[in-house]
Amino acid sequence: MITLRNYVNGQWLRSRSNSLLPIYNPATAEKMAETPLSLGEEVDEAVQAAATAFVEWRRTPPTERVQYLFKLKALLEEQFEELARTITMECGKTLVESKGELQRAIENVEVACGIPILMQGTNLEDIARGIDEFMIRQPLGVAAMIAPFNFPAMIPFWFMPYAIACGNTYLIKPSEKAPLTMQKVFELIDQLGLPKGVINLVNGSKEAVNAILDHPKIQAVSFVGSTEVAKYVYGWAAGKGKRVQCQGGAKNPVIVLPDADLEMTTRITADSAFGCAGQRCLAASLAITVGEAEKSFTEAIADAASSRVVGNGLEPTVEMGPVITAQSRERIEGLIQKEMNQGATALVDGRNPKVEGYELGNFVRPTILQNIDPAGGLAQTEVFGPVLGLIHADTIDAAIDLVNRSQWGNMACLFTSSGAAARKFRYEAEAGNIGINIGVAAPMAFFPFSGWKQSFFGDLHGQGRHAIEFFTQTKVVVERWPRDWSRQF
Ligand code: NAD
Repeated sequence: MITLRNYVNGQWLRSRSNSLLPIYNPATAEKMAETPLSLGEEVDEAVQAAATAFVEWRRTPPTERVQYLFKLKALLEEQFEELARTITMECGKTLVESKGELQRAIENVEVACGIPILMQGTNLEDIARGIDEFMIRQPLGVAAMIAPFNFPAMIPFWFMPYAIACGNTYLIKPSEKAPLTMQKVFELIDQLGLPKGVINLVNGSKEAVNAILDHPKIQAVSFVGSTEVAKYVYGWAAGKGKRVQCQGGAKNPVIVLPDADLEMTTRITADSAFGCAGQRCLAASLAITVGEAEKSFTEAIADAASSRVVGNGLEPTVEMGPVITAQSRERIEGLIQKEMNQGATALVDGRNPKVEGYELGNFVRPTILQNIDPAGGLAQTEVFGPVLGLIHADTIDAAIDLVNRSQWGNMACLFTSSGAAARKFRYEAEAGNIGINIGVAAPMAFFPFSGWKQSFFGDLHGQGRHAIEFFTQTKVVVERWPRDWSRQF
């Protein structure tokens, strides 16, 4: 049995913790590895290594720093298939989905390679006679990231490439539910020849997180996970004076107007709601039909849900894999039952499925609930499973009002063939990522991942220019030199 290791100061280390968590393949229930729940003191060792490495790393020219990222990109591409299989085996998503997430991880490395331009400051000569003013960007020091289980490759890459390209040193704490992919990524990082301590890996859960939040040498924390933990992390780390960005949970609505292309809308909404078994922070989980769209969309989405092929994500014909753990499956089925006890009806009920050959897997088939209360229960609760709630509104204004009354603000989408409706929606909808005839409005690496409301705590998001601003602090220099400088020497 493999016991995962930490990577600290350029070395693979066994954790001294006695707490080991088993990692099961969610499709087969096969035990694949054990991950240590590292001690606070092990986080401290990683931070000390990163702080020591920072002294020279920040002096390394950006053009040299990005050479390591170019190498990392090449290694990630070489190991693409193997990494995708690992993601599928630990997370359950299909191979196509795993490859999609890896592609986005690589894209973030590519964007960070532009750091010699992206990190440039501004200047103005002669703000007064003989006086010039500059704004330069400098790295912060040691930064850390705390990851969720659902995108074990991509999410650390929303931050890490930018952090180190800007001259910071780094610590990653993967999810204890899906730590295998980062272990493999660090096998590649180990081949880069980076100075010791520039990027470190510590496996663990709450104790490791608390040690990160409390550590005086960590200047910045990036968190992605549930809103409950996001608030906890934000409150603690910000209270300690750290720079913090916390991306939280979501409940994403899509509005379907009567003029939408039915085939495209159904296909895309089904992919959004049931792709990655609904374990995506940008999963559509509420569909709000407007006017005459109700009947046709309801029939079409029920067909799409019932016919989705569920199974082991490694098999090429499978369209949806299992959810991450047995506890997660029980939680999802419990939320469905609770909503039905309150009057909802199941148009498609995906509970207790039989998936031949994978009887021990954590499967929930696509589920569609009708007659749900728009103001409470499932309509306001993140399920993080393949469950779509249907709501009806008489007008687009009423539908947008439902979107905006939500506490969440990660994504909202509209399906229509009207430019005017699209513009109205883009303008009025209160969410940070907007899709027009798009089901998963995931920003490319060169745009920030813009959650709002209870889906985000902080100011600067992951990816793109926001990441550069997050991982640097500005310094303004005002400089006076006499006109006849030669007299000084
Ligand atoms: P989670 O909040 O349970 O865990 C995230 C991280 O927090 C893990 O590393 C975990 O070890 C740590 N953690 C968990 N409980 C903790 C506690 N009590 N104290 C300290 N640390 C703790 O989230 P998850 O189940 O891994 O991921 C799913 C959630 O992540 C969903 O809510 C999803 O919407 C969200 N998510 C959000 C985004 C986004 O961009 N907004 C992206 C992906 C996932």
